[in-house]
Amino acid sequence: MKKSLMLLVSMLLVLSVFLSACGPAATAAPAAATAVPAAAQKIVGISMPTKTSTRWISDGESMVKAFEALGYKTDLQFADNDINNQLSQLENMITKGANVLVIAAIDGSTMSDVLQKAHDAGVLVVSYDRLITKTANVDYYATFDNFGVGVIQGTQLVTGLGLKDGKTGPFNVELFGGSPDDTNAGYFYNGAMSVIQPYIDNKQIVIQSGQMGMDKVGTLRWLAATAQSRMDNLLSAFYTDKHVDGVLSPYDGLSIGILSSLKGVGYCTATLPCPVVTGQDAEVASVKSIIAGEQKYTVFKDTRLLAAQTAKMVDQALKGQTVDVNDTKTYNNGVKVVPSYLLTPQTVDVTNYMKILVDSGYITADQLK
Ligand code: BGC
Repeated sequence: MKKSLMLLVSMLLVLSVFLSACGPAATAAPAAATAVPAAAQKIVGISMPTKTSTRWISDGESMVKAFEALGYKTDLQFADNDINNQLSQLENMITKGANVLVIAAIDGSTMSDVLQKAHDAGVLVVSYDRLITKTANVDYYATFDNFGVGVIQGTQLVTGLGLKDGKTGPFNVELFGGSPDDTNAGYFYNGAMSVIQPYIDNKQIVIQSGQMGMDKVGTLRWLAATAQSRMDNLLSAFYTDKHVDGVLSPYDGLSIGILSSLKGVGYCTATLPCPVVTGQDAEVASVKSIIAGEQKYTVFKDTRLLAAQTAKMVDQALKGQTVDVNDTKTYNNGVKVVPSYLLTPQTVDVTNYMKILVDSGYITADQLK
């Protein structure tokens, strides 16, 4: 009796070892399916923040092209700058079986719950351009050198004022920051201030309003109208008897708002030229403004390259290959350092927009007419 029980137990043990050995093989793709590229069955959910800025439209379009070229299916959604909208779009993507989420967050700190669901469903998550914070469930980050963007903007401002060519000022400058809930905004501001601060310290640049620091100069949701009304307020409070010489603007949309405000009080005329105004994204309206001699600079971040790099990283990750990252130190999201790939931004002004933007096919000559 005892002997037959032992026999039964050992038979069961053998059976369970056998079954567990079969387990992984049973879940692996059938032999025929492995011949099909892994990408063929995979869906990439692409979540962009808004269509109000043309750059995100370009990002979305380029990403659809880049992923489809690699054989992926895509589901592209824009969230109208509404956080809840973005979260529910992401939930839907997960429910519909997305294998990958590529997300440019409206507010990167709001994603912890939805990304927990993504993680539980085995979804690969890539933070796109903007860092997703406060969660471990973000696998990679594809972006530009954001501090470097700010350094370019700061350098443009001091160059435009002539401080690099020996002018001594003092010049009156006002500072604008991006949306405080977008980590990029802090990098842009700090990068710019790394160049500007020494000129404030030696009094060649004066911030007449005294408004400095992201808590004072930030522009929630990157809204042009917000920047325009802040510029209106600055002009009436501090510049009725003074001249604005420069404005640090982190994004083309804000630059256009700031310039409207300046034009409203008589700037950008033969007798009162525009101050030096910076920008970012090489948006068509701003490139036209640069050609018209109003906005002085922008920063070009080639979204085609960012999209291609993102698709490449996703493809490598899904195939179990080494993922191409070039920065494993900078982007701590509060929970972990997210392995990142940083692309290089470029300075653009009236002297090089043709070569960098038009000749490369990013903007057509017709769009600039
Ligand atoms: C992007 C910028 C853009 C800004 C406003 C930032 O996160 O990096 O390129 O100008 O958002 O859309």
